[in-house]
Amino acid sequence: MRWGFIGASNIAERVIPSIRKLGGQEFVGVCSGSEKRAKEFAAAQGLAQAHTDVQAFLDEGGYDVVYISSTNEQHAAQALAALDRGCHVMCEKPLAMSQAEAVGMVRRAAERGRVLATNHHLRAAAAHGLMRGIMASGELGTIHGVQVSHAVYLPPHLQGWRIAKPEAGGGVILDIMVHNADLLRYLLGTEPRRISTFAQHNGLGQGTVEDGAMSTIEFEGGVLAQTHQSFVAQNALTHLHVLGTSGSLFASGSLSQAGSAMLLQRDERGERQIPVPTVDLYEVGFQAFVEACAGRGQPLASGADGAKAMAVALAALQSAKSGRAETIDLSL
Ligand code: NDP
Repeated sequence: MRWGFIGASNIAERVIPSIRKLGGQEFVGVCSGSEKRAKEFAAAQGLAQAHTDVQAFLDEGGYDVVYISSTNEQHAAQALAALDRGCHVMCEKPLAMSQAEAVGMVRRAAERGRVLATNHHLRAAAAHGLMRGIMASGELGTIHGVQVSHAVYLPPHLQGWRIAKPEAGGGVILDIMVHNADLLRYLLGTEPRRISTFAQHNGLGQGTVEDGAMSTIEFEGGVLAQTHQSFVAQNALTHLHVLGTSGSLFASGSLSQAGSAMLLQRDERGERQIPVPTVDLYEVGFQAFVEACAGRGQPLASGADGAKAMAVALAALQSAKSGRAETIDLSL
């Protein structure tokens, strides 16, 4: 497939080597808001075309697939433009900035018969696949709680718009909480209904931009999940703790881009470590996407999944403002 890249971003630099591993892919062009960045990115990645205008990029690229990793407020318009040219789209999270935009993207993909996927890479982690299987098997009894500790330190080279620009989707809720929301939906297989969130300002986020938040989410069927997301937790370990009426699972280090984890299961037989293979999360996610574009199966996270995770994050932001639990609107 012919690939075009919208966004001369850090994550595109990270993802491209993973897509190269799939083989049989042709990397053609990039579109950036800056001519200098477009040319530098194209030179670094060996792309023949560098553009600053999305329509010219699409006109000249003849793409099968477009990967969008611009800042969040640009995702919706760029995805619609690519879908209208008949391209399949892998879009970064959060899918958009509003429910209306996300719903528009999902509907347009259906109308055009193209695949719209969301890069929720944590679904690709082997630890999470194993946990999902054990949870569904009933081995843990009835699942009643999940704790997600996704508190990290945002490295200086990623601090820009994330800590300074709410209009670009800055803030830890749209950046990290949205991944937690998607992962919880994936693990539990049920939908979130209500959310209560407190946000923090620890001095890294500028103005109104939150750099820490804790949420409690009620899922259909009554499961309660807690999520902690932070940009200011230096030297912390991420973890994911699933609690059932007769057993529990504890994953350490799975909430990262590394693709590795330590996973423990505890039940009446005691505690044992479950071996977890290390995988390239982006290779696994983009492989599923490429297969879906060829008509084989579904992407790991669809556009609808991205829209739903984003709806949870938007409700979290609303709750942090209102001081009340908010209902999550998942209508598509
Ligand atoms: P970056 O800040 O690296 O890139 C975002 C945009 O910023 C780029 O598209 C580029 O604009 C602009 N930019 C890049 N470098 C510079 C610079 N030196 N000066 C001025 N502007 C610059 O962001 P990320 O790569 O971290 O994030 C991009 C998207 O990917 C976001 O939606 C984010 O949420 C998502 N993301 C997803 C991850 C995942 O694992 N799923 C991980 C990390 C990010 P232009 O294209 O116009 O040149």
